[in-house]
Amino acid sequence: MKIAFIGLGNMGAPMASNLVKAGHEVTVFDLVESAIQALEAEGASRGESAEAAARGAEVVISMLPAGTHIKGLYLGRDGASGLLDALPDAPLIIDASTISPDDARYVAAAATERGLTWLDAPVSGGVGGAKAGTLTFIVGGSEEGFAQARPVLEAMGKNIFHAGDNGSGQVAKICNNMLLGILMSGTAEALALGVRNGMDPTVLSEIMKQSSGGNWALNVYNPWPGVMEGSAASRDYQGGFLTDLMAKDLGLAWELALGSKSTVPMGSQARNLFALHSAQGNGGLDFSSIQRLYRAGEA
Ligand code: NAD
Repeated sequence: MKIAFIGLGNMGAPMASNLVKAGHEVTVFDLVESAIQALEAEGASRGESAEAAARGAEVVISMLPAGTHIKGLYLGRDGASGLLDALPDAPLIIDASTISPDDARYVAAAATERGLTWLDAPVSGGVGGAKAGTLTFIVGGSEEGFAQARPVLEAMGKNIFHAGDNGSGQVAKICNNMLLGILMSGTAEALALGVRNGMDPTVLSEIMKQSSGGNWALNVYNPWPGVMEGSAASRDYQGGFLTDLMAKDLGLAWELALGSKSTVPMGSQARNLFALHSAQGNGGLDFSSIQRLYRAGEA
């Protein structure tokens, strides 16, 4: 299929690369020139703009940081028109970014008005899952749109869920990431407590993994440097899922809670921890660097 891929960051680049490997004709665009060049080297074509990349595409996929970028891309900004007004052949649009359910519904409604099919399809699985093509896609949108998108998503992911109508992919994703934020901060807290009381972090991790404290953050994304080969912690927290993106997702969870009069004390605590960690200059590090917050004052 002819696919346009917009946003070649930590997630988008490996996702687009898997589409190329699956034999799709992929045209890419990003604001960063080197990101485009890296995908060109893997066999993708270059778009000089998002609009140019999307011209003639059967499927348009976006993977941008936040709702403001997605609204700007599709609806336009600063008086310029957006991509929705520039798509001639009524393609399928899949936004894999994590944004608020309200923003997703807003852009989806604007797409529907123009006869386009728009799906929110946020992902879980991190950069590792994006590289391995084993992401989980959580799709919100019509049954028909979901059926059309499935074969494309299967080139990038292993588990493809239809969560419900537009926006529900984001609701499910936000609930998941609120839980992840809680689990990562809890894991970092337990490890710091153990180490300050004489435990080796690797030994403690092995014990907790096989005990009732085992969880995804501990088992596959250990936040203590050197405990797990290949983890973000073991490469000085470079790359991965940025602290700022986790803080953003926990903010989305908080907005969702306000709107539905839900009580989220653990999610609020996690939001404050990641916001503080970001304010201390760690926004560009992987979110497992929250471990450093618990190690402050270490000799
Ligand atoms: P990133 O910051 O690494 O990449 C975003 C890319 O978008 C950058 O290359 C940037 O140049 C590009 N960009 C921004 N505005 C653009 C525009 N108008 N046109 C073209 N390109 C533009 O972010 P990421 O880690 O790849 O995350 C992307 C989305 O996926 C976010 O919504 C994030 O919450 C979500 N997500 C990330 C992870 C993860 O582990 N990193 C996991 C699940 C979901």
